[in-house]
Amino acid sequence: STLPESLADLVIPKAYINGQWHRGTHTFAVTNPANGEALAQVPDMGAEEAREAIAAADQAFPAWRKKTAKERSSLLRRWFDAIMAHQEELAQLMTLEQGKPLAESRGEVAYGASFVEYYAEEAKRVAGETLPGHGVDKRILVFREPIGVVTAITPWNFPLAMITRKCAPALAVGCSVVIKPAEATPLTALALAKLAEDAGLPAGVLNVITASQGADVGKVLSTDPRVRKISFTGSTAVGKKLLSQCADTVKKASMELGGNAPFIVFDDADLDAAVEGALVSKYRNSGQTCVCTNRFLVQDGVYDAFLDKLAARVKALKVGNGLEDGVVQGPLINQAAVEKVQTHINDALDKGGRLVCGGKPHALGGTFFEPTVIADVDESMQVAHDETFGPLAPVFRFTTDEEAVASANATESGLAAYFYARDYRRIWHVSESLEYGMVSVNEGLLSTELAPFGGVKESGLGREGSRYGLEEYTELKYVCIGGL
Ligand code: ADP
Repeated sequence: STLPESLADLVIPKAYINGQWHRGTHTFAVTNPANGEALAQVPDMGAEEAREAIAAADQAFPAWRKKTAKERSSLLRRWFDAIMAHQEELAQLMTLEQGKPLAESRGEVAYGASFVEYYAEEAKRVAGETLPGHGVDKRILVFREPIGVVTAITPWNFPLAMITRKCAPALAVGCSVVIKPAEATPLTALALAKLAEDAGLPAGVLNVITASQGADVGKVLSTDPRVRKISFTGSTAVGKKLLSQCADTVKKASMELGGNAPFIVFDDADLDAAVEGALVSKYRNSGQTCVCTNRFLVQDGVYDAFLDKLAARVKALKVGNGLEDGVVQGPLINQAAVEKVQTHINDALDKGGRLVCGGKPHALGGTFFEPTVIADVDESMQVAHDETFGPLAPVFRFTTDEEAVASANATESGLAAYFYARDYRRIWHVSESLEYGMVSVNEGLLSTELAPFGGVKESGLGREGSRYGLEEYTELKYVCIGGL
């Protein structure tokens, strides 16, 4: 194992069930995508352990929900403090197992922790209401209650933030949780559990099980009758499967699935600002986020100028091990990711796309890939319809606003959309016309704990962050008081 000594206290490479650390009978290796070296072995658990974790969460739920909101709030606040006190170690760990540059990892710790802080505060503001009754002797009470045991299945691209974004609101309202982190990045999840334990979270309230294959555990987490809600972030294909598995027991589900984000540059845009936004939204985490731009749509009049400015900046992006100074592009998560990017590039070039820069695996080898820009892209190409999830910027050309909006909306996805413009009428009209859960105007980075994150169409169900993210974990109970 090559995990640095400095991280030994933070990472217990065991599953966390009912406040106990379990070794399991089988293990699998967690590797560093920058060099392929094994970092640690973690338990490879299955259906049986998943049921054990659900049983623990089920047992812990009644006492947890009965605590005062202030008590839950204090515990969450202590968890937040513990995470921020270990920001540097957590960032190192994340770069080691996920590959993102250290500066991005530090940012993710702060971003991920912000959900814990926010929901620690909101815990005290979860309230029902009294409505006018339907007779002089009747009153209508509306209680807001925790939904019950929650399961969370999370992806590898944000090993920390996707966990806190689900767990913090669930815990705040009084739910207990079982987490199944992605097989590529379980160490950050286990470090979070360790910090929650240190913060004093009661046994069984938060459980983490690790598994090399998502399917068996996922089946239990989405079908066990003791579970009332599942929250998933990941691919659209797996999300659909989980949703159908939820049907038998009518579980509530939040789904944060794939995107196909357009980034529209209108001819009145501030081009320098648009290029800044483009770099952040396209190349963050080497293009491996669900809100990363998948397609640039640029208006005729500024097409060449935008392309030149973008290409100049992309050529200067430093690729390398995320722990090295100045690196802004880490490795891709695995070989399959490299192959997908290459397939999209080859397809675009075969169909008449023009290579502006990059285009192939990086000379560093492994899963490093050259940041790529392709011009003259059109709707016949795979990149128009399929999420690349890598460092490829395909640039389409358009003439009218209507054409840009129609093209942006011509997808089953509807997560994030970006556009740059100055005219205020255009800003209003385009914002209203885009069929997306999130629209970012003159800004390349829109994620924050203060806003409702989520998609429409096949990009998902439900919202995370803000007070809307809290409602996902509560049920309303109507109590009729009669005979008054
Ligand atoms: P990605 O392509 O980003 O890896 P996935 O949807 O495959 O997205 O993975 C997201 C999460 O879903 C991971 O934790 C993974 O282990 C889990 N997962 C994968 N397949 C299944 C499945 N059949 N049932 C439940 N969870 C799954």
